[in-house]
Amino acid sequence: MSVTRNILLTPGPIPVPEPVRRVLAEPMIHHRTPQYRKIFESVSKRLAGVFLTREPIYTFTGSGTSAMEAAMVNFHSAGDEILVVDGGKFGERFTDIAHAFALKPAVLKVPYGEAVKPSQIREALERNLKLKSVCVELCETSTAVLQDIKAIGEITAKTDALLIVDAISGLGADRLETDNWQVDLAIAGSQKALMLPPGLAFLSVSPKARKRLAGATLPRFYLDLRLYEKAVKDWDTPFTPAIGLVLALEKALDLIEAEGLENVFSRSARLGNFTRAKLARLGLQIFSKAPSATVSAAVVPQEIDGEKLVKIMRDEKGVTLAGGQGELKGKIVRIAHMGSITQKDLETGIQILEETLEEMKKHLRPSSSLKH
Ligand SMILES: *Cc1c(COP(=O)(O)O)cnc(C)c1O
Repeated sequence: MSVTRNILLTPGPIPVPEPVRRVLAEPMIHHRTPQYRKIFESVSKRLAGVFLTREPIYTFTGSGTSAMEAAMVNFHSAGDEILVVDGGKFGERFTDIAHAFALKPAVLKVPYGEAVKPSQIREALERNLKLKSVCVELCETSTAVLQDIKAIGEITAKTDALLIVDAISGLGADRLETDNWQVDLAIAGSQKALMLPPGLAFLSVSPKARKRLAGATLPRFYLDLRLYEKAVKDWDTPFTPAIGLVLALEKALDLIEAEGLENVFSRSARLGNFTRAKLARLGLQIFSKAPSATVSAAVVPQEIDGEKLVKIMRDEKGVTLAGGQGELKGKIVRIAHMGSITQKDLETGIQILEETLEEMKKHLRPSSSLKH
C-alpha cells in the first residue's frame, strides 16, 4: 500500500501555507538594498503587532534556540543567578544554556503536565534577591502546558529581575501580551505558529531589559544585540539574513492580519478544545492540566509502545504526530493545532490515531479470537 497522505501535526515545524511557499520560490534579491530594507522594516513593525509590543523586534538567522541564547548572553554576566522554570524539555534548555555561559541557574522544578504557580516564583524572588532573571515558557511544548505569564509578569515587574518568555511555539496561537503583561524578553521562532520554514528567531526587548545591555559582560559575537541595534537603525542586520524567509514572513503576516490576531487566538483555542475532546472520546487521558492553544498531549495507554505508535502512523499512514521527549518518551503523543493546521487535518489525524491504536491492541492479544 502506498500512502499519498502527508499530514504534519507536530508542534513545529508545521505546514507552510501555499501562498508562503510561492514566495519562497521567487528569485533571490540582495539585502543591502532599499528594496529589502523596506520589506524588513515592514515585517519588523508588523511582527511587533503579533507580539503585542511597541518595542522593537530583533531578527536572528538561526533556529528558535538562537534567540534563547541571545536572551542569555546579552543581558547577563558570568556568575549571575537566574531562576529557570523547568516543567519540561524546553525549560531544561534554559538551564543548559545558562550552564554553558557560567551563569548560576536556580531550577524551579514543576511536575510535568502542570503549570508553575506564580506564588512559587514570588517566593523564589523573595528568598534570593540576587536573581537577575526569570525564564519560563509561554507554552512548554514538550508537555503542552500553558503558563500564566500575565500573573508572573505582575510579580517580576515589582523586582529588578527580567521576565524572559520562550514563546517559540506559543506566539501566534496562545495569547501573549508582551507589553501589557510586562514581559522583558519575548522569544519566537519561524517554524511554529508563524507558519514559515525554520531559520528565523525573534526577540523583543523591553526598556527595562535594554538598560542591562551595556553592562552585560558574557562573551558573544554572532548574537551580540549591540550589533543588531546599530544595524536596525537602517533596517539592516549585521550579517546576511535568511532573505527568503524574511520575504516569506511578509506573506505569513498577511495571512495573520487578514484573519485578525484575535481570531487567530480564538481559532487555535477552539481547535485545541476540539482536539482534546476527540482524544478524550478515544479514552485517552489528557496530559496537560493547563491546556494550551498551541499543542495538546494525551497519555498513551500503558500496554502500547508510544514510540512505535508514532512511527507506524508516520511511516505507514502518512500522519506525523510528535511523541514524548525525555522522561515522557513513548508515554505521550502530542498534536499541534496552531497556525496553518486545519480542523480537517486534525479529524483525519485523530481518526488514524484511533485506527492505529486498535490495530496495535489487536496485535497485543493474538489469542483473543480463540475465546469466542
Ligand atoms: C520548538 C521550541 C524550541 C526550540 O526551537 P528550535 O527552533 O528547535 O531551536 C524552544 N522552545 C520551545 C517552547 C519550542 O516549542
